[in-house]
Amino acid sequence: MSTPTTLYIDGAWEAAVAGGTREIRCPADGSLVAEVSEATAADTERAIAAARRAFDTGPWRATTAPERGELLHRVADLLTERAEDFALAESRDTGKRLVESRIDMDDCIACFRWYAKLAGVDAGRVVDAGSSDVLSRVVHEPVGVCGLISPWNYPLLQAVWKVAPCLAAGNTFVLKPSELTPHTAVLLMEVLTDAGVPAGVANLVLGAGPEAGAPLSSHPDVDMVSFTGGLATGRVIAASAAATVKKVALELGGKNPNVIFADADFDAAVDNALNGAFVHSGQVCSAGARLLVEESIHDRFVDELVRRAQQIRLGGPWDESAETGPLISAAHRDKVTAYVEKAVEEGAVVRCGGEWGTGELEAGFYYLPTVLDDVRRGSSAVVEEAFGPVVTVETFSTEDEAVEIANDTFYGLAGAVWSQDAGKAQRVANQLRHGTIWINDYHPYLPQAEWGGYGQSGFGRELGLAGLAEYQESKHIYQNLRPAVTGWFGGTDD
Ligand code: NAD
Repeated sequence: MSTPTTLYIDGAWEAAVAGGTREIRCPADGSLVAEVSEATAADTERAIAAARRAFDTGPWRATTAPERGELLHRVADLLTERAEDFALAESRDTGKRLVESRIDMDDCIACFRWYAKLAGVDAGRVVDAGSSDVLSRVVHEPVGVCGLISPWNYPLLQAVWKVAPCLAAGNTFVLKPSELTPHTAVLLMEVLTDAGVPAGVANLVLGAGPEAGAPLSSHPDVDMVSFTGGLATGRVIAASAAATVKKVALELGGKNPNVIFADADFDAAVDNALNGAFVHSGQVCSAGARLLVEESIHDRFVDELVRRAQQIRLGGPWDESAETGPLISAAHRDKVTAYVEKAVEEGAVVRCGGEWGTGELEAGFYYLPTVLDDVRRGSSAVVEEAFGPVVTVETFSTEDEAVEIANDTFYGLAGAVWSQDAGKAQRVANQLRHGTIWINDYHPYLPQAEWGGYGQSGFGRELGLAGLAEYQESKHIYQNLRPAVTGWFGGTDD
């Protein structure tokens, strides 16, 4: 067991004031990873005060955007040097395969590099005011103190999607990662400090959402809250933030359609349907958990999907033969179990899976890759997010019907279209009401392209250009170069 891991406030590592701690256990085998500090609202309030001071009066405000870009490049360099430490920590906390944690590190580094490059690119613009006697500019400024709240499925990556643009724009922040997966956030604070981020600019609190996280949406000294997590929590945060009218960005769940036309490349579509549904045991906000298959290929497609799903090897982070890992916790596995049971009650047919891992897997929270066929439109299985290794299958007969079913969700995060008819694939992609659409692929995303949801998948965007704009205010500065009496009101003669 390592030494206790603490909070990082105003440039100092500190235990929680009330002395609380939490055990972190690896979901792959239940082993104790560490005991970490558990913050209460009082700690978060201290962190907010530090971030406020650093924003209002610290040296950070004087940094230029190109300087902050340089700083983000140094962060990326240090992350590269320490990538293996981060990957090991991420795998211990989440139980995910080490190879996946290493890929996550590449994505984190790419995100810092992207915002390093973008930091000084757009300094605002001069606006034509229609008069040569006026200089009119729109400039970008940081929003202020940001509360950043992140989930457990991609703990570092989801935090980095917030931290990198937040710093690039010149804000200060308090980060609260999921209470289940704190370690890479702790390492990130070390790296930020080593890269030269001044005290108070980057603060970290560890602990439960309703206690340690809540002040980040309610406190008047926080100017913006950016949240990634579940829909129910997103509603609580948006409602709480409304009292102080703070800026809110929400990256919530999804019920993402993966639409397979009969003219798709069959092998590639099956293979990517597996990736879409079962990578990281489906604990991916954009998981292709809702398969829509053209009626004419349904039987052949599902038979092959099931055959391959049954062969997926489950195992812990260090098992090199494993292809996917455990669920994050016993409580989460219970939720996935209840989701499948309800689906079956509502008429779904379990074609494979629907069970916990057995034998050696009993030490962790494993759930077998599960294919639910014959699910009914409107049933809970196609409406609710399982966030586990479960894919539902529905059929369609026409392009219009495929679009209608794929859009029949209150979520709108991501989806995919499989067809070798490029025109058809584009037509369908154009009509899908989801924030990201893949054609003949599943899951890739680029730091250069915006990520975020339609509908109840949230609002605001991460990554891309908009990911930086989220953390900026726009200010219009209008200067009259030839000041004169307007004559609007009388009385100027007296
Ligand atoms: P969650 O909503 O339970 O928790 C997310 C974070 O919010 C955690 O840090 C938690 O401690 C905190 N939290 C909980 N209650 C809070 C409160 N009242 N005030 C402040 N903070 C609070 O979500 P989770 O179980 O950690 O993550 C899974 C969910 O995240 C899934 O629904 C998934 O789809 C979603 N997700 C979305 C994206 C995206 O980009 N849209 C990415 C990853 C995960």
